[in-house]
Amino acid sequence: MAMPSPTRRRDGSTIAHPAREGEGRAAPVCLNRHDEYNYRDTRTGRLPMSVVEEIKARLDIVEVISSYIPLQKSGRNYKALCPFHSEKTPSFVVFPESQRWHCFGACSEGGDVFTFVMKKEGWDFRTALEELARRAGVELRPRTPQQAQAAEETARLRELLAEATRYYHHLLQHAPEAEGARAYVSRRGLNADTVARFQLGYSLPRWDGARDYLTAKGYTVAEQVKAGLLVRREDKGTTYDRFRDRLMIPIRDGRGRVIGFGARTLDPDGKPKYLNSPQTPLFDKSHVLFGFDLARQAIGREERVVIVEGYMDVMQAHQAGFENVVAQMGTALTEPQLRQLQRYTKRLVLALDPDAAGVQATLRGVAVAQETLAEEWTPVFDPRGLVGYEARLGAEIRILRLPQGYDPDDLIRQSPRRWAELVETALPVVDFLLQVMLDGLDLNDSKAKAGVVDRLLP
Ligand SMILES: [Zn+2]
Repeated sequence: MAMPSPTRRRDGSTIAHPAREGEGRAAPVCLNRHDEYNYRDTRTGRLPMSVVEEIKARLDIVEVISSYIPLQKSGRNYKALCPFHSEKTPSFVVFPESQRWHCFGACSEGGDVFTFVMKKEGWDFRTALEELARRAGVELRPRTPQQAQAAEETARLRELLAEATRYYHHLLQHAPEAEGARAYVSRRGLNADTVARFQLGYSLPRWDGARDYLTAKGYTVAEQVKAGLLVRREDKGTTYDRFRDRLMIPIRDGRGRVIGFGARTLDPDGKPKYLNSPQTPLFDKSHVLFGFDLARQAIGREERVVIVEGYMDVMQAHQAGFENVVAQMGTALTEPQLRQLQRYTKRLVLALDPDAAGVQATLRGVAVAQETLAEEWTPVFDPRGLVGYEARLGAEIRILRLPQGYDPDDLIRQSPRRWAELVETALPVVDFLLQVMLDGLDLNDSKAKAGVVDRLLP
């Protein structure tokens, strides 16, 4: 992820970005937070002083960083092109002796192995701690027995959902009953690589297919209910498979772990068209962006994310090579969704339905985005006389207006080039609003125009 450059105002002056949270004080953060965890060494069972120090002692920063970027030996140190800003000559240095890194170029900052992975992966400290602990073979232990039990239950649910994903995926590829599902997938133009990458699956047209399989694998009925795979009948207390005769689309968190499913009916008259996992301890649709785990790297690389509405839109986009595309899971973007994206980019393109409801949803999304991404928005009149907003923090939101009657899925299949053009020419929010409001207005009516400007100004 590149450092944000200062925002240039339209009058040519610039606004410096305030330091982001955590920057430049990573070490104190580590020291303040490590006492949240007790842990034991998985090999010796001993209890060392500091989990952060233990992880750092076990991991070689050269090895960790070289798993992300190629390092060149240079005297006692290693050099590389800085992964956080673009440059032609290496100014990024890794020091094996102090186990630290520093960019002597535009970033002019450095840190330890924790700050490196936090910056590179967009992780918060907790995630970095968990991931590096895993890599170092250090087991983190939650503090209280209750926390330990909750963590164990969560781990079980994750395993259960991973097992269910493999089960459904296997059925899609091999079950005779999945013939219709396979035909549907190929009719939608999804190839074998996409089916494998998204681990698409199929649920049998039975009330007990998943339950029998997962029970035989050692998971209790209660666990399967908790994971949202089984429904319990209120009256009799018996259970049945929630997902039957549907195309199963695993929904993953940002780290690629399955947390739920979207399930599409294969019956043209089937209702609902999409049946999602209910809210579970792992799945909260207001927090999830579908495809984010597969899009993260591309979003960081391209410094832009395109947000669409449907699973099919995301899969089609990725298949066509547009990997910076994710889907919101509900009718509007939420703050937790935007917070995840914010770690990778502040340039958002919203590609939503062109109909009236779609426009309303877009506007709701924009309102949330404005609150989340920018502390302060300043209206600016640009030379063309349009009202524009620029966020002090450099957020940029654009709206991709799809041609009437198209969703991204159709459009990308028909013309990937047209899609790329629409992304490039997406309108800044306020230009979009202006266009929507001017639709149906007489542009020669100066009173009407003045009214529009009034509505746009805060
Ligand atoms: Zn740099």
